[in-house]
Amino acid sequence: MTARQEQHYVCISCPIGCPLRLVHEGDQIIEVEGQECNRGAKYARQEFTDPRRTFSTTVPITGAVYGRLPVKLSAPVPRQAIPAAMAAIRLLSAEAPVRLGQVLLRDVAGVAGVDVVACRTMDRVMITPSDDPSSAT
Ligand code: SF4
Repeated sequence: MTARQEQHYVCISCPIGCPLRLVHEGDQIIEVEGQECNRGAKYARQEFTDPRRTFSTTVPITGAVYGRLPVKLSAPVPRQAIPAAMAAIRLLSAEAPVRLGQVLLRDVAGVAGVDVVACRTMDRVMITPSDDPSSAT
């Protein structure tokens, strides 16, 4: 017989941050307590069975007014896939114009349906010789 154990989480689904207690026997969830709403129980169950994370960062972009483009994952990935996702994004670069929501990389780290997308539109800008610091004399 598997002994009952408990895991403790803090729900991050809203700013209240309810403390959650999940009781389980092996892989079987017995109960979740502490949540003020159903999202807390769903969060605790997800954390116990398949913890997922997401993140945002920037990638280099050429031809735009700024040199970095903010990007994010379109959905959370399994926690163990985060290092591979970060490594894949480190190799990315973009070229303006880029549109908000444009997919820069599909199925990041081999996670089907999770893409790297642009978080803003960046139009192409024309660099005149007087704007280009490398042309200064
Ligand atoms: S359980 Fe509900 S009220 Fe509590 S932090 Fe999560 S979302 Fe907010």
